[in-house]
Amino acid sequence: MNMRDGPKIRLYVEHPLGDGQTIPLTRDQAHYLFGVMRLSEGGQVLVFDGQSGEWLAEVVDAGKRGGALRCVAQTRPLQMPPDLWLLFAPIKKARTDFIVEKAAEMGAARICPVQTEFTNSDRIRQDRLQAHAVEAAEQCGGTFVPHVDDLQRLDRLLANWPADRHLMFCDESLSGGATPAIDGRKGMPWAILIGPEGGFSQAERARLAGLPQAMPVSLGPRILRADTAAVAAMTLWQLSLGDWA
Ligand code: SAM
Repeated sequence: MNMRDGPKIRLYVEHPLGDGQTIPLTRDQAHYLFGVMRLSEGGQVLVFDGQSGEWLAEVVDAGKRGGALRCVAQTRPLQMPPDLWLLFAPIKKARTDFIVEKAAEMGAARICPVQTEFTNSDRIRQDRLQAHAVEAAEQCGGTFVPHVDDLQRLDRLLANWPADRHLMFCDESLSGGATPAIDGRKGMPWAILIGPEGGFSQAERARLAGLPQAMPVSLGPRILRADTAAVAAMTLWQLSLGDWA
């Protein structure tokens, strides 16, 4: 289907999709489709559930507090992102939202907020951040939605770090040094680690230095804000090892 001629609305649904499958709508979804977007019965939308690719669906019931769609045909298969986790220390609300949105757009498979020694916040609203990831996938044409984890302590995560997962440790103390080539390990599980505004503590640096899977990386001669660093690191990784090549 040519997207220019087809429906523009993309909706993430938590319901299995398949030929002729009916999808019940939540109150919020019904409000958005029928109240905001003014769709009525027979109108078309694109839906995805994060597992079954993207489907063209038709409105079969348009109510005020609910409704239903029916799958007509698959328009795109599921496209999984590379096996990349983004670990980052939450910062201010708007900037944390930005990091989650960009991580979903740029192809992270999992988003892991981590509490480091210098992290200011000790809680996050996981449900709100997950909703940002869903919205980003709806906007960017993704068929997969990365899971946003609850906040967990970095030291505990590193204590059980998977043996086969490489870690691109974005280390501000290396700023100005050469950025090492990270290619040569394509197709393997990876993670990127971005610190908080205060950077990493000496203890965290020592812990990371002792982790064989960790590779310290410079992101150039300037100290970037954490949100900028997350986007820069993902760009670097996607170009060298991800699905941009
Ligand atoms: N307060 C720290 C300082 O002045 O050195 C800066 C922390 S920076 C705002 C937040 C995070 O972004 C860092 O912990 C690091 O993960 C990443 N970062 C920023 N600039 C970087 C660079 N040039 N090289 C590597 N990582 C960088």
